[in-house]
Amino acid sequence: MSGWEQNVRQVTPYTPGEQPRVLGRIIKLNTNENPYPPAPGVTRVLESFQTDALRLYPDPQATELVQALSEVYAVPQDQIFVGVGSDDVLAMAFLTFFSAGKEIWFPDISYSFYDVWAALYRIPYRQIPVSEDLSVHAEDYYGAPGGVVIANPNAPTGLLFSLSAEEIEEIIRHNQDCVVIIDEAYIDFGGVSVLPLIQKYDNLLVVQTFSKSRSLAGLRIGYAFGSKKLIDYLQAAKFAFNSYTMNRLTVALGAAALADDVYFRQTCDRIITTRERMKKEMSSLGFVFPDSKTNFLFVKHPDRSGKEIFEALRERNIYVRHWDRPRISEYNRITVGTEEEVDLLLQALREIL
Ligand code: PMP
Repeated sequence: MSGWEQNVRQVTPYTPGEQPRVLGRIIKLNTNENPYPPAPGVTRVLESFQTDALRLYPDPQATELVQALSEVYAVPQDQIFVGVGSDDVLAMAFLTFFSAGKEIWFPDISYSFYDVWAALYRIPYRQIPVSEDLSVHAEDYYGAPGGVVIANPNAPTGLLFSLSAEEIEEIIRHNQDCVVIIDEAYIDFGGVSVLPLIQKYDNLLVVQTFSKSRSLAGLRIGYAFGSKKLIDYLQAAKFAFNSYTMNRLTVALGAAALADDVYFRQTCDRIITTRERMKKEMSSLGFVFPDSKTNFLFVKHPDRSGKEIFEALRERNIYVRHWDRPRISEYNRITVGTEEEVDLLLQALREIL
């Protein structure tokens, strides 16, 4: 390694799911995007957007978006943080809250960006094994030295960690000296948010996103709720890094998406209905999977390897997500698409089996 390279921050990056340039005939069920378009109001705002405004820097506080979130979730504005997707929010939270060199804990099977951020920021971490049935247990997270991060529902398993907020509250109660992050990227597909707990515990950060339930993965908006103190620390770190993460167009379109609650609920309900049908049909084909409360299923089949199924689907232009990793290599994660996409998926699976 040449001299200068020894001074470089060397990291192993996160590998996102494939984004084909041309969609063509591809049925894309590999990155948990929403199969339905964003709310109609988003299109209206986009069409009437005054591009002259782009001469000017955006509002560093993204007030319009924060105000809209504040109304929809009944949380004061000073308890809301926004970022460029929840990836940006989570990365900023790792940087801000886990800086003491103390070990943070998260499940071994979870969102695979957590260990990447930990490595990037030199945060020691422990990945706590989930059970054989892929479930996460509250007691395993009591007394973490530096912090806790839990995706609820978990990804890529789809499992809701607990049917009530009580178990998560126990984790927070047992970790009063560090920050607990609950990543609720998939909460709108049938989970119960722990958002109310932010008024009780000043060390809880709840993170959500517009990428799944609001059909805006391409726009990049994530947000977090927490105590004013927690949010102030996050804002300070963000403003020490980049004041203008939220551009004018994103702020306007994000606010428009939030304005249409009826559309939001209808879209989530449609996906939930398709997911439940998909569960029945996949079961009858012999697939086994944890009981997902998300917009995807994490499936394996007793007669075919995960990789075989992944490749056979891909030959038929159906993209799903497969990880060649210990413990999960027999599975594929399949996003819930439209009814038609799911029909084509099931037809392909019948042929393959
Ligand atoms: N958390 C989890 C658990 C996820 O699966 C994802 C999606 N890859 C994210 C966060 C990040 O989503 P986004 O940055 O699009 O908000």
